[in-house]
Amino acid sequence: MKTSLKYKRILLKLSGESLMGEQKFGIDSRKLNFFAEEIKKIHSLGVQIGIVIGGGNIYRGLNAEEHGVERVTGDLMGMLATVINSLALQNALENHGMFTRLMTAIKMEEIAEPFIRRRAIRHLEKGRIVIFGAGTGHPYFSTDTAASLRAIEIEADAIFKGTRVDGVFDSDPEINPNANLFEEISYLEVLQKNLRVMDMTAVSLCRENNLPIVVFNMDKPDNLLKVVTGKQVGTSVGHSTKKEELKTK
Ligand code: UDP
Repeated sequence: MKTSLKYKRILLKLSGESLMGEQKFGIDSRKLNFFAEEIKKIHSLGVQIGIVIGGGNIYRGLNAEEHGVERVTGDLMGMLATVINSLALQNALENHGMFTRLMTAIKMEEIAEPFIRRRAIRHLEKGRIVIFGAGTGHPYFSTDTAASLRAIEIEADAIFKGTRVDGVFDSDPEINPNANLFEEISYLEVLQKNLRVMDMTAVSLCRENNLPIVVFNMDKPDNLLKVVTGKQVGTSVGHSTKKEELKTK
């Protein structure tokens, strides 16, 4: 029997920090292989997959000034860090038998293709996983914003934000054990309550372009598969929650 898919084209956002696993810095190959296995489960169902991976496990521009590095230079370093992670992920995916392309927002043609929207879509249609490296190519942005931008550009059905917690909570679940998980929440509520889903620029971009966000725990086996096939996992962020709709009726 053919598995029915809720999402046919997705943009998966993984943080750089998630690659550290138990380490304090860098890339844990076990984590990389785990992600590759999880991604393969949905790739084999025919889901078209774009991926943006952050660089926080290597360098963050925000912390640059503490080390006497100018912010813009620090951001460039951060964007290069995302390319290192992208190459590592590309390697892991190919080791697991998937075809991939790495496209970067900053040209580095010996390493990756430059980002060309129509070409990216063509790769996806051919079943290649496209990894988007070097963020937006501009300082003062984050890879969350890059992920939202690319998701909109490739006309993804949704952006999947893989995290190490189960979704969006009313307070930090790593600090408060009684924090409540939202199954659904609106963009507006996320912005007004300053909930840690993605940064404000990224959430606003999704809101303006009607791009659903699904926040889920990427560390739990099969979660990615469950989200793609429409099982209730994590938190969906959209225009309005059912509760809000009821209130306005
Ligand atoms: N960055 C940037 N422009 C972008 C994307 C990223 O300047 O469009 C830089 C920024 O310095 C950021 C770093 O790259 O701190 C790493 O990305 P991010 O912090 O988003 O990674 P994550 O938190 O997902 O690991």
